[in-house]
Amino acid sequence: MTTHREPLDSVLETVGETPLVRVGAAPEEVPVYAKLESFNPGASVKDRIGEHIIRGLLEQGDLDPGGTIIEPTAGNTGIGMALAATQLDVAAVFVVPEKFSVEKQQLMAALGAEVVNTPTDDGMEGAIERAHAMAADRENAVVPQQFANPLNVEAHYETTGPEIYEALDGEVGAVVMGCGTAGTLMGTAKYLREQNPETHVVAVEPEGSLLAERFGEENEKREYHIEGIGTHDPTTNELFDPELVDDVVQISDRRAHDELKRLAREEGHLVASSSGAASAAALDTAEAIRDGEVDVPYDTVATVFPDSSERYLSKGIYESFEGWTQ
Ligand code: PMP
Repeated sequence: MTTHREPLDSVLETVGETPLVRVGAAPEEVPVYAKLESFNPGASVKDRIGEHIIRGLLEQGDLDPGGTIIEPTAGNTGIGMALAATQLDVAAVFVVPEKFSVEKQQLMAALGAEVVNTPTDDGMEGAIERAHAMAADRENAVVPQQFANPLNVEAHYETTGPEIYEALDGEVGAVVMGCGTAGTLMGTAKYLREQNPETHVVAVEPEGSLLAERFGEENEKREYHIEGIGTHDPTTNELFDPELVDDVVQISDRRAHDELKRLAREEGHLVASSSGAASAAALDTAEAIRDGEVDVPYDTVATVFPDSSERYLSKGIYESFEGWTQ
């Protein structure tokens, strides 16, 4: 276990064991705790899957040492995978839709990866297609497919879930987390439901995203600015298992933005839009529990703040709502 109190051999050993911190705005009776994933070496939750997926691909024989991974990503996965790739003798190429932040793309390149941009209008789906086309053209190249790879869920099942459970002495009433690939929520929920099948599980997506379709809900497809969660094509979210989810909630760009600014001003959290959305949804869940609208085994809510706002300063994250979304 990482204690940060003794010398370590590699930066990879600093992944995980992030702090779990109480969110001050939650009702007194139903505390909300957020796992601060910016404490990872690549400063996001995706460091957890980088090493796990690359080692898994090598062990399964899907990739040979010296080979190349080619992954479609909004950026954080690229950073997490690039960090691990350099340590494991694997080359990395990331296919990133243009709209995603330049900070992330610069960090991937700094870690030795090649970055290929696809048009914003083609969405994440366009990046996925391009990655597969590139892998077909290269020797010993594989697309790890974070959107479909069970190793993504497994990384969180083995780390995020147990860390939350242990930090709260097993008293986890609800988990409320944003879904991009849904790896974080699925792995955590699977672990926590095994410990207590009554654990209430809430998936969070931006307004305008269509993940709730997998739940039989019909919502209007719209663009959104919250970065890292949501989808316009739920068929790509192969890891999302409705069986593990009690509710899917939508958070507007404006609410996520108000909340990420409040978290900085009032609570000292320099977190980004997917954290703002997760926090807003976790606070709503805590209030619903307090008001007796949701049954939970314990009056405690856990969430994840996936990354930090510093990664989005170029996108005007701390400007007015109009400035951020223009
Ligand atoms: N927030 C941010 C900023 C992300 O980059 C991601 C990953 N796309 C998520 C949340 C969601 O994580 P997951 O893919 O595990 O659902």
